[in-house]
Amino acid sequence: MTFASLGLSEPLLGALADKGYEHPTPVQRQAIPSIISGRDMMAAAQTGTGKTAGFTLPLLERLNGGKSANPNCVRALVLTPTRELAAQVGESVAQYGKYLSLRSAVVFGGVKINPQMMKLRSGVDVLVATPGRLMDLYQQNAVKFNQVEILVLDEADRMLDMGFINDIRKILALMPKQRQNLLFSATFSDDIRTLAKGLLHNPIEIDISHRNTATTTVSQLVHPVDKSKKSALLVHLIKENSWEQVLVFTRTKRGANRLVEYLGKNNISAAAIHSNKSQGARTRALADFKNGKKQVLVATDLAARGIDISDLPHVVNFDLPDVAENYVHRIGRTGRAGAVGEAVSLVCADEIELLSDIESLTGKLLKRKMVEGFEPKHNLPETELKKNIAPKKPKKPKVKKTFTADAHLEEKSVNKSSVNRTSKNGSDSNSKTQSKSKPQSKSKPGKRKRPFDTDSVSKRKRKPAKKSDGQPTRKKPRHGKPARPRKKSSPAK
Ligand code: AMP
Repeated sequence: MTFASLGLSEPLLGALADKGYEHPTPVQRQAIPSIISGRDMMAAAQTGTGKTAGFTLPLLERLNGGKSANPNCVRALVLTPTRELAAQVGESVAQYGKYLSLRSAVVFGGVKINPQMMKLRSGVDVLVATPGRLMDLYQQNAVKFNQVEILVLDEADRMLDMGFINDIRKILALMPKQRQNLLFSATFSDDIRTLAKGLLHNPIEIDISHRNTATTTVSQLVHPVDKSKKSALLVHLIKENSWEQVLVFTRTKRGANRLVEYLGKNNISAAAIHSNKSQGARTRALADFKNGKKQVLVATDLAARGIDISDLPHVVNFDLPDVAENYVHRIGRTGRAGAVGEAVSLVCADEIELLSDIESLTGKLLKRKMVEGFEPKHNLPETELKKNIAPKKPKKPKVKKTFTADAHLEEKSVNKSSVNRTSKNGSDSNSKTQSKSKPQSKSKPGKRKRPFDTDSVSKRKRKPAKKSDGQPTRKKPRHGKPARPRKKSSPAK
């Protein structure tokens, strides 16, 4: 099957040819014609299946040729749970739409809001946003939803896990009733079905996900090893096998930092990506890893969520995840879109229960291989598959109070918001970012905090008297007049 047979026009086919895509993936085959026909959609598709192109291509096809967006208006809105995913989806929109004259923009928290307001002034055809920052922009009259024709909720399950449901509901209430709705989620949980019920009209349902089964093109291996030897074993594996691009998962942020330091001492260039790092540092680490400046990216589960690096050959579980389902997400970073990948887990005796949970969840015992010189003193017992293991809900990530001080210093140097005009000359995507971070307010006991990966402002109670940048705000939106961004922003608090 070809992309042309799915109803995509020349400018999009040209961009796909430039990307080197020859055939649509299963999710693309099913989603593209239905979305072009205007139907609502509920799709269960894991990241790595080609789902982004699955909704972006038909969305661009539908927008192309229509009336362009009025000032501060948006024609298609894509909501994503994390900043990284927003940046990636924004990049895809720019790449696939590079031969179209549509405007696209990406907005997320942790960076200055004013440049984003400026970019929205003339209206955009496609806006990719995280919910918290989008609400802030709305409250400052920088964005209007009355022209929204298409709404996409990407990784909707994750958005619910991260506590975005209230922001999503507020945004939905502000949209015109007549619009196309597309909901993408790794799984169809009960919560997702409830959300879908109130959102979608007579949707086409597609299910590409194979719940809790890892991509078949990923080979999986366990190296039993003592905890104290894990770092040395990782260095050995990287050097011995000449691995050039390795994504390593650790359970803790401190563990990630320590490992980066150890790898550096052993002449392996590495960077860490986790929620104690500023947005600027995270963006740089990811870019350096993608372009080969860093050989190893060490990540925690939350920060790595949604990271897409094409043809990533190696994923290493330095620590096994606490929640077995995260194993599947982790190794889904490799073997994407049919490419062959390798997932290696360094497992010590302490982690036997976690290993057993993963094996029971995925339904198969993982192959084990001792590495000479690293045979463990503490034996890793044999495992067997448990019956009926109920998948645990991933833990809500914690926010560390101390994050902001150094993040603020780190990010003073760069700032650009991410807006692209797609044109015949190609896209100019820019997602280098700067964080304007503020100290977290002390939370009341029992009150859940928003994780840093999400937009930090949206879950806080908004006092109408102050905006997120410390400026006084108008109480009522000035209808009809687009907001004028301030020339100077006040220093981060
Ligand atoms: P996604 O599931 O959207 O995160 O996409 C996973 C990866 O597959 C991305 O790197 C895409 O660039 C790539 N991809 C998407 N569609 C295709 C296709 N039809 N052929 C080859 N690669 C693709």
